[in-house]
Amino acid sequence: MSVRAFRAGRSAVGDPFVDSLFGMTEGEPSLFERMMSGEIPAEFVHHDERTIAIRDINPQAPVHVLVVPRKRYRNAAELAGDDPELLAELFRVAANIAESEGIAESGYRLLFNTNEDAGQTVFHVHLHVLGGRQLGALAQQV
Ligand code: 5GP
Repeated sequence: MSVRAFRAGRSAVGDPFVDSLFGMTEGEPSLFERMMSGEIPAEFVHHDERTIAIRDINPQAPVHVLVVPRKRYRNAAELAGDDPELLAELFRVAANIAESEGIAESGYRLLFNTNEDAGQTVFHVHLHVLGGRQLGALAQQV
């Protein structure tokens, strides 16, 4: 079920139950913060003072890694406005991961889903690193 459909079945954006599932509630730790604290298990492929990278639980390609700043920003636009150097760091970490995963030469895709129409489900900004096969069209017609 899509987030939109799921939300449509509930009262509206802002429903505390839905918000808690998707990590949108102010003060509540996000999914990635729960991983950083060890509360939720994750396969880390990188961690440093400012960023982590984990394998996606539902990979869309042979390599599917999420690069996440430790500090929480809602999406890429918020991060770009508040800390462009940290945004650049996500791209540097992604390039290193592409090297270590062996997809730097064959090619890979970096993307941020931003808000509902893009399918963002976790509102703690994260850069998807996808590769290891021909990735095909960027966006599907529906
Ligand atoms: P978004 O849809 O917000 O751009 O990306 C969120 C990503 O987080 C999705 O690709 C989804 O598969 C991944 N994800 C959701 N829950 C978990 C989890 O518990 N563990 C891991 N490793 N990834 C998750």
